[in-house]
Amino acid sequence: METAMSNSTNKNNDKYDHDIIDWFESVSENAGHVQTQTLRRILELNYGVEYLRKWLGDINIHDMDACALESLFTSVVPLASHADFEPYIQRIADGDTGPSLSQQPITTLSLSSGTTEGKQKYVPFTRHSAQTTLQIFRLAAAYRSRVYPIREGGRILEFIYSGKQFKTKGGLAVGTATTHYFASEEFKIKQKMTQSFTCSPGEVISSGDYKQSSYCHLLLGLFLSEEVEFISSTFAYSMVQAFRGFEEHWKDICNDIKQGSLSPRITSPKVREAVLKIITPNPCLASKIQSSCEELQNSNWSGLIPKLWPNAKYVYSIMTGSMQPYLKKLRHYAGELPLVSADYGSTESWIGVNVDPSLPPENVTFSVIPTFSYFEFIPLYRRKQDCISAIDDLVEDEPVPLSQVKVGQEYELVLTTFTGLYRYRLGDVVEVAGFHRGTPKLSFICRRKLILTVNIDKNTEKDLQLVVERGSQLLSQTGAELVDFTSHANIAKQPGHYVIYWEIKGEVDERILGECCKELDASFVDYGYVVSRRTSSIGPLELCIVERGTFKKILDHFIGNGAAMSQFKTPRCTSNQGLLRILNLCTIKRFQSTAYD
Ligand code: AMP
Repeated sequence: METAMSNSTNKNNDKYDHDIIDWFESVSENAGHVQTQTLRRILELNYGVEYLRKWLGDINIHDMDACALESLFTSVVPLASHADFEPYIQRIADGDTGPSLSQQPITTLSLSSGTTEGKQKYVPFTRHSAQTTLQIFRLAAAYRSRVYPIREGGRILEFIYSGKQFKTKGGLAVGTATTHYFASEEFKIKQKMTQSFTCSPGEVISSGDYKQSSYCHLLLGLFLSEEVEFISSTFAYSMVQAFRGFEEHWKDICNDIKQGSLSPRITSPKVREAVLKIITPNPCLASKIQSSCEELQNSNWSGLIPKLWPNAKYVYSIMTGSMQPYLKKLRHYAGELPLVSADYGSTESWIGVNVDPSLPPENVTFSVIPTFSYFEFIPLYRRKQDCISAIDDLVEDEPVPLSQVKVGQEYELVLTTFTGLYRYRLGDVVEVAGFHRGTPKLSFICRRKLILTVNIDKNTEKDLQLVVERGSQLLSQTGAELVDFTSHANIAKQPGHYVIYWEIKGEVDERILGECCKELDASFVDYGYVVSRRTSSIGPLELCIVERGTFKKILDHFIGNGAAMSQFKTPRCTSNQGLLRILNLCTIKRFQSTAYD
C-alpha cells in the first residue's frame, strides 16, 4: 500500500516538475512579448494609482496596444530610486490606505537586508511576492531534480531563520522577505509540492535567536541525518557560520542525541518543547557521530557534510556576489558533494532562476523569468583608463527592454513590479552571458555602488574581493584561514587611505602579514588609485587584524538592529560608526603597506 502511494506521489511530482519546466520554457521562448504583456498587466492592475497618474495623467491605457503602452511608459515615467518611492511607502506605513502605488492594498512591508547599502529599506510586499517565491522555488527544484534526483518524502537540512517582525504606526506588519515567506502558507505548500520537508519545526525557524536556532537545526539535522537529501541556506554565509558553530558545539549535540535531551543553552520554552517532541535517545547514532567528528577534527573538518549526512546529494545556497568569499570554506566542508548555486532575486522582486544546476558557482547564470516583473537594462560602459571622473567609473546609455540586450554587455537592472515600484533602479550590475531560449541568462557582477573611494579612485565590492583574494594567497600557504573581511576609506586625516580589516583563524607570522598588506595595496588596479598612491594623494593601505569572533559581533550588531540572519551579508565597506567602533576595539595588530615606498 505504502509503495503504491509513494509511486503515485512520485508520478505526481514528475508531472509537476514537467509542467512547471514546460511553462518556463514556453514563456522564455517568447520572453520579449511576455515582457510587453507583463507590463500591460502591471499597469492595468494599478491603473489610476497616484504615482502613475503623476506621469501618465488620465490617459486611458485600456484601449492602447501593448507595444504602444510600453513605449509610452518608458518615455514618460522616469527612472527612479528607492528615495523617490520613500514618501509614498512612508504614508502607507503610517496607515494611508489610498491607492498611491498599487490598487491592491498593501498590508505588509518587507525590509531589504540593508547590509549591502548600510540602511534598511521598506519595500511593499503582497500576496504576489509570496506566490512568485513559491513559483521560483518549485521551478528551481524541478531543474535540480533533473540533474540530482532526490528521494521524495526526504528531508532538507535548512539553515533558515525568521527575523523580528513588528508593526508600523499604521498597523502594517514589517519583516524581511524571508521572514514573511517562512511564516506564509506558501512555505508549507512548497514542502508538500516538492515532497521535501525541512528538518526543523517552525518554532526553531522563528525563535528570534539565531544561535539557538542554529544549534537546533544542527541537532535535528543530525538526528534525522539518514533522511537528509540536501543541505541548504538562503545565503552561503549562514551555512558556513552554522558549521563553524558545529566545530565548537558538536560534543553537546552528540550528548543531546545520546540522551534525547536538549542543551540548557536553548532557553526559549516554545523551542524546547517543539524540539523535545521530535528527538528521542539514540545512543547508537550518537556514538557513530562522535567517532566521525573525532576523525573530522583531525582533518580540520574537511568533508564534514558528506561524512555526517551520507545521503545528501548536494549543497544548495546563494553562492554568488558577496557570498563568493565563503565558497572556499563551503567547498572544504562539502568535500566531493556538488555546490549548487541558488537563484537571483531581491526583496523587490525575484529575477532569475538557475537552469543549469550542475555548473560550479563561479560560472552560474540566472535565466530571467519574464512574468515576474517588467525588466529594463541600463547599458554600462567602462570609462577609458585615463579618463578620470569624480562620480563613477561607468558610463550609462539609454535603458533597453529585455528583448534588446546583447551578450557580453554589462547592465544595471531596472524593475517595474506588481507591488508598485515603477522603473526602480535596483543597483545591481549584471552581464548577459547568453540566452535560455529567448530570455537572457545573467551573471551577477556586483552592486553598482562604489564602496572604496577616497578621491578619484573607484572600487566596487567585486574589485575589493579580487584584491583580498590575491592578498590572502600568502596566508593560505601558512595554513591559516581568512574568516571574513571588511574595509573602510579613512578620510579623517589627510591624505586619506584604505583600511582593510581581516579576521584570521590560525597563527601567522608578522612578517607574512606585512607582506599580505603590501600585496593588498599593490593589487588595487584602479587607475585613479594607482595614480593617487604614486603621487601620495592617497596614503599607504592599512591592514588591521581583528581578534577572533569580531565578525560574529558585527552580525549580532546587525541582528540587534532588526536584520535577519537569513538575509545577512557582511558589509564589505563601512563608514558606520557603530561598526567601526567594534572593528577598532577588536583590532589586535596593524600593518602599513610599503608597496609604493
Ligand atoms: P536584499 O536586500 O536582502 O533583498 O538582497 C538583495 C540583493 O542581494 C540583490 O540586489 C543582490 O545584490 C544580492 N543577491 C540576491 N541574490 C543573489 C545571487 N543569486 N547572487 C548574487 N547576489 C545576489
